[in-house]
Amino acid sequence: MNALILRLKNSIDKQLLTKVDATLMGQHQFIPISVKDNFLFVAVSKSSDKEEVSKILKTKFNNSIKFMLVGDDDLRELLNGFIPDTNLPHPLEQKVNTSSEHQSKLGEMLVSEGVLTDVQLKNALAESKKKNSPIGSTLYEMGLISLDQLKKVLHSQTGYDVVSSEQLSEQNRFINILPEDFIKTNEVIPISSDGKTLIVGVVKPLKQDILKQIIYLTGQNPRQLLMTHYEYNNSIETFFSQQKKATDEIIEQIKTESIEGEESATLWEQVDAELQDSTGSVAKFVNQIITNAIDNRVSDIHIEPRLSGYIVRYRKDGMLQKVIDIPQNVETSVIARFKVMSRMNIAEQRRPQDGTFSLSYNKCSYDFRINTLPVSGKEKVCIRVLAPAVSLASNDKQIKLVGASDDDIEKIKQMVSCPNGIILTSGPTGSGKTTTLYSVLKSLNDESVNITTIEDPIEIKLEGINQSQVNAKAGITFASCMRAILRQDPDIILVGEIRDYETLETAISAALTGHLVLSTVHTNSAAATVTRLIEMGAKDYLVSSTLSGVIAQRLVRKLCDDCKKEYYCTREEAMQITRDEAKIELLMKTPIYKSVGCNKCGFHGYKGRLGVYEIMPITKEIKKLISFGAHDLEIEENAVKNGMVTLNNSCFNHIINGETTIEEFIRVLGLAGE
Ligand SMILES: [Zn+2]
Repeated sequence: MNALILRLKNSIDKQLLTKVDATLMGQHQFIPISVKDNFLFVAVSKSSDKEEVSKILKTKFNNSIKFMLVGDDDLRELLNGFIPDTNLPHPLEQKVNTSSEHQSKLGEMLVSEGVLTDVQLKNALAESKKKNSPIGSTLYEMGLISLDQLKKVLHSQTGYDVVSSEQLSEQNRFINILPEDFIKTNEVIPISSDGKTLIVGVVKPLKQDILKQIIYLTGQNPRQLLMTHYEYNNSIETFFSQQKKATDEIIEQIKTESIEGEESATLWEQVDAELQDSTGSVAKFVNQIITNAIDNRVSDIHIEPRLSGYIVRYRKDGMLQKVIDIPQNVETSVIARFKVMSRMNIAEQRRPQDGTFSLSYNKCSYDFRINTLPVSGKEKVCIRVLAPAVSLASNDKQIKLVGASDDDIEKIKQMVSCPNGIILTSGPTGSGKTTTLYSVLKSLNDESVNITTIEDPIEIKLEGINQSQVNAKAGITFASCMRAILRQDPDIILVGEIRDYETLETAISAALTGHLVLSTVHTNSAAATVTRLIEMGAKDYLVSSTLSGVIAQRLVRKLCDDCKKEYYCTREEAMQITRDEAKIELLMKTPIYKSVGCNKCGFHGYKGRLGVYEIMPITKEIKKLISFGAHDLEIEENAVKNGMVTLNNSCFNHIINGETTIEEFIRVLGLAGE
């Protein structure tokens, strides 16, 4: 035992222990040590629920409580001898199937079932040996079998029940039931609990004495479910990664500091103290919020007031998710810290403010746009994470768009092969328009061309390209900037957005004088973009002679491969997304997937996003239609006749390919026939 813990143990006031129920101490992991200066000192570990402990102690003691944090092992050491360990109930007996057929090796079983070939198994065995990882998970990671297949064979091999992805989806609520070091040492993970039975995931059956320890630690009967090594490692990674630990430690520190400082300092004094010290825990906390966001590829950070305190939410893949509660009493310091970083007025809390700041992280420089908004007497902060500078000078000249088919890419290449003309991407905000244009720019960038962009704001810094920022206050608009750029002899111009006639007119004249112009427009479909330009005031013959192509696009969330669940949809479900009888039939007889949620995807069921594209090259026929003033439906009909895949059909294909869901289709594109 470590000397400090030994001293602590010796200083335990046994009088105090007579007042507290020993079973409660074991169950909630705490032990009162002594009373000093009217404070009751109580040892707890990180896995103890301090609120619960306070509640228990307050029924017995009048003193204020001071918690002393010790390691899980140390706490067990302290409790040892003070809490009873008699009458442990026996864990549920689990039957193991021992018939010889089921004892055969997992890999061979898969081969005999025809899931694997001998050669695949041989390769996987070599790989598993090399990586020193079990054969089952190796097969899955090599993409040779599905997680479901692996679990099925594990079940018939061992006779144990196997954990399902639905069960894993609630894991985050129960993970703290067992201490971290216990979980890691014994390879056992809490999955769920009803208060009496604790369902745990194991990679191999637990020994009796470990089952006993679980009862001792939790007061609950364990029931084991088998899980794959892959799932086990995922859980460990999710809940106990270094990153998460760092945040937890800082929050812990802030909590202690704010309790200590509560009486002596006003909030303002606290803020002031924090500002003096940029290495303080609030600064660390703020840094952690930002760097976690970068690591998780988050696009926006929201810091929002709630009835009880503040929360931090990240927007990832277009969806907001709550990540942390800000400890009470420090939200003012956290917001002040952000204001200091972005040189805002700290004292101003009633007016919205804008600012920017930069941060160096992992050898990259990241820029952030931040703004504050007063909401019901409090302040809400929103931070946009701008991607770091991207080099366009790479040798890889391929256009890469996630979700685009080879056909789609080929069509885009055709469009940009002409050195003059206008290419537009269209869609609502956040549909990935700019990313598509950057990818096109990347494919066109080399020493022989001059590429200039006009943006508002510059979302991604591109190396080897001249980027200029629109500034309406200073009179620098898209149109005026464009005129200045045209005098600089560019070959390719990217205009952030065409939203008025003036910009459109300059874009058209640039195209007419031999430049390639790339830009975005807010419209719903490729064909509607054409008519939108004419509505803006452009002459139809100028549109038909300069426009080379339109790419309409949306982003849908991509199903998580780890937890997606196969099913066949009903006619009603199919009819939500198509009215075409042949397609309804096809959808109903194709195995498609629904989202479930696991720790690999943050329990959302989706991971990453997928582009949905509608690519319309302006053919001669379409040029003719435009100059005749055709309706956008006529233009679309003609384009479809000549092979254009509509947004709806492109998303339909993603569903058939098992990459997204019917729900995502409806969320992004709406119900069919409306
Ligand atoms: Zn998942």
